[in-house]
Amino acid sequence: MNLSERDLQYNWHPYTQHKTAQPHIAITKGEGALLWDENGKEYIDAIASWWVNPYGHSNRFIADAIYKQLTTLEHVLFGGFTHEPAVQVAEKLMQLLPNNQQKLFYSDNGSTAVEIAIKVALQYFYNKGERRTKIIAFENAFHGDTFAAMAASGISFFTEAFKGSLLEVIRIPVPTPSHEADSYEALERLLKTNEFAGFIFEPLVQGAAGMVMYAPAELDKLMALCKKHRVFTIADEVMTGFGKTGKNFACDYLTEKPDMMCLSKALTGGTIPMAITTFTQELFEGFYDDDVNKALFHGHTFTANPTGCAAALASMQLLESDVMKQNIQRVNKQHLAFQQRIQNHPRVATTRVLGVIFALEIKTDGTESYYGAFRNKLYNFFIGKGIILRPVGNIVYVLPPYVISDAQLEKIYQTLEEALTEC
Ligand SMILES: *Cc1c(COP(=O)(O)O)cnc(C)c1O
Repeated sequence: MNLSERDLQYNWHPYTQHKTAQPHIAITKGEGALLWDENGKEYIDAIASWWVNPYGHSNRFIADAIYKQLTTLEHVLFGGFTHEPAVQVAEKLMQLLPNNQQKLFYSDNGSTAVEIAIKVALQYFYNKGERRTKIIAFENAFHGDTFAAMAASGISFFTEAFKGSLLEVIRIPVPTPSHEADSYEALERLLKTNEFAGFIFEPLVQGAAGMVMYAPAELDKLMALCKKHRVFTIADEVMTGFGKTGKNFACDYLTEKPDMMCLSKALTGGTIPMAITTFTQELFEGFYDDDVNKALFHGHTFTANPTGCAAALASMQLLESDVMKQNIQRVNKQHLAFQQRIQNHPRVATTRVLGVIFALEIKTDGTESYYGAFRNKLYNFFIGKGIILRPVGNIVYVLPPYVISDAQLEKIYQTLEEALTEC
């Protein structure tokens, strides 16, 4: 039996209907933007393995930092103890984030980063004796798969089975062109009720919805409105963080500053699961009290794992290097040139580019579902050509490692053009 066959005996895969799924491709090696399967077939990882890997697979600089940490101090509990890597990551990250972010809390993945932000928003008001128990989010948002994160997510595909058991989250339209006023008015109506503790959003780009983009000025208006009504703004930068949008964080395009930020995915360069939620001083002080009951009773066994912190520190050093900044600009320039080349194609409905993110909507009859037949046809077409892309419905997006070569990018673009004719 090969690896792919042995896998089927025990492993339960994410987002997978095992009865109809094809066997999982067994990957044995990765380098830069490339992956190889057990038969030696080469793939370009055009989505950076679910947006986690900006600096390339098997990156030596991060690997060396991890090895050094593993052989110095692999782990120690973070309750009652601290360590150099956790302090260094905090000091480094605070230099990069908007300057109103003053405190940070470690966890393990994007969903837990969101859980923590939502719990902090709710408990802040509880601690003050004020009844604010609901959250505002965008339509078609994605914030993760644990319960509060799922409640905030608006893609019904992921959450339908749990409808009755979720935190109360009310949705407003995304302020995409021609929906700006609807979005603003819906938010204003909700805020007047004084029932809401927070507004969570994916700043500028909704990843899982298919890289749906909207303008910084519109988000600024919504955030300013929240501030006026004392509702905390939560920027979920799990996808957008660490260079994807062309700046370190999507929030760097804004005038307003969020009260909380959620980070994960590229935080450790795609090596070790880790997440961070960051806060303003005001939020921290809402828990700072002689009364122990006002503390944030939240933690995970591997909170601030030193090895994860070492990986995060090395990753941030790479992000700040001139080479990586040039790579981000180079990929962006290539995307813009390809957008020019493809946007008038008869099968293209729209295209979008921000930073290293390129998205293309294919013209269809409008009935394409998230994991539908057309999407599967596209997915298999790209896999056959040695390119890993995961279209959502009729949207194909490219979000490659920053280190991808021009030739590899060109192969992705050409294959996309072929797909428009052949699928
Ligand atoms: C992926 C993602 C999450 C969830 O992160 P996990 O690590 O998969 O739990 C949350 N928010 C956004 C915006 C994401 O893209």
